[in-house]
Amino acid sequence: MTISQAAGNVCTVSALNTKKQQTTNSVESEVIYLPSTDCAIKSQASLSAFTSYRVGGAADLYAAPRNLEALQASLKYAKERNLKVTILGAGSNLLVSDRGISGLVIATRHLRFSNFDPETGQLTVAAGESIPSLAWAAAELGWQGLEWAVGIPGTAGGAVVMNAGAHNSCIADMLVSAQVLSPDGTLETLTPEQLGYSYRTSLLQSGESPSERRCQRIVTQATLQLAPGADPAKVMAITKEHKKHRLSTQPYNFPSCGSVFRNPKPYSAGWLIEQTGLKGYQIGGAQVALLHANFIVNRGGAKASDIFCLIRHIQHQVQERWSINLEPEVKMLGEFQGACG
Ligand SMILES: Cc1cc2nc3c(=O)[nH]c(=O)nc-3n(C[C@H](O)[C@H](O)[C@H](O)COP(=O)(O)OP(=O)(O)OC[C@H]3O[C@@H](n4cnc5c(N)ncnc54)[C@H](O)[C@@H]3O)c2cc1C
Repeated sequence: MTISQAAGNVCTVSALNTKKQQTTNSVESEVIYLPSTDCAIKSQASLSAFTSYRVGGAADLYAAPRNLEALQASLKYAKERNLKVTILGAGSNLLVSDRGISGLVIATRHLRFSNFDPETGQLTVAAGESIPSLAWAAAELGWQGLEWAVGIPGTAGGAVVMNAGAHNSCIADMLVSAQVLSPDGTLETLTPEQLGYSYRTSLLQSGESPSERRCQRIVTQATLQLAPGADPAKVMAITKEHKKHRLSTQPYNFPSCGSVFRNPKPYSAGWLIEQTGLKGYQIGGAQVALLHANFIVNRGGAKASDIFCLIRHIQHQVQERWSINLEPEVKMLGEFQGACG
């Protein structure tokens, strides 16, 4: 089975069923059922549980489609109402504003499917598959190539967009093709060359402007080239070693988004921040991690604005000391204007 373009059955959004619900914080929310599909759109859906930072406000509207058909129906719903669309993978590289996100947020994590093809050595996965789970599954089979990815807590779609990488490897090195859905509902298969990859970036990354958001393409599926036929025990040992190394060098015990800033080559962002004396520096519940200065951790009760203001503080201090502009790797979604007083 592959995720492929649906033949018909795309929902008509004229006669919508709706149902009122009370959320945990007593905000009244509404669930809109799109007919002829199993897709439902929820209003005022809290996003903090869907981001690794565990912060952020609510999505005006939220959908988590389970198949391509429901994804297309959600997009159609947004298009007909001229709504801004924001895509959420595992939320492991996101800072969502305390004020939430306007428009429709579409979460891809329920788009699930994976196929290891022993003939070609290719792994084809739906956007919502978890990268660490795929790394463990590949290791169990004795397929080499994904050992480096075990500590990256995102989805396949997020990894393709971010060009996720670690231990001198990255998705661009092994991507054969990515299937993407355009805002007009058409599917395209793109090669790595067409995705314009470089360090932690791709042409799939969109800016915050309304026109860029409207053009945003959604990764639905990816095919990766791996190398089958190795001894599973050996691949597993390397995978475990990578995981162990990360647990000892990065603060996995507190919510974070991984590295906050891109490394401004030839420097490492962590080294610059540490040399600026910012390790342990805290604003509200947000702290520059003691174990790794390029991580900002939520020590408990942090607001998105605490993290945002700490990011700005670090940028300012590093600029003053080194005349280097640290560029955030984390994607900031929603409104932060005036957040730092
Ligand atoms: C503890 C920790 C360690 C980390 N270590 C690493 C590391 O070693 N290397 C590394 O590269 N990253 C690392 N990260 C960051 C993060 O895991 C990666 O950037 C990851 O690839 C993000 O995937 P995601 O599914 O969580 O995407 P999200 O964070 O949900 O989204 C990231 C961006 O991609 C877009 N997006 C997501 N899915 C899709 C889709 N299907 N179609 C179109 N757009 C989409 C979103 O709109 C957003 O702009 C780490 C994070 C944490 C919390």
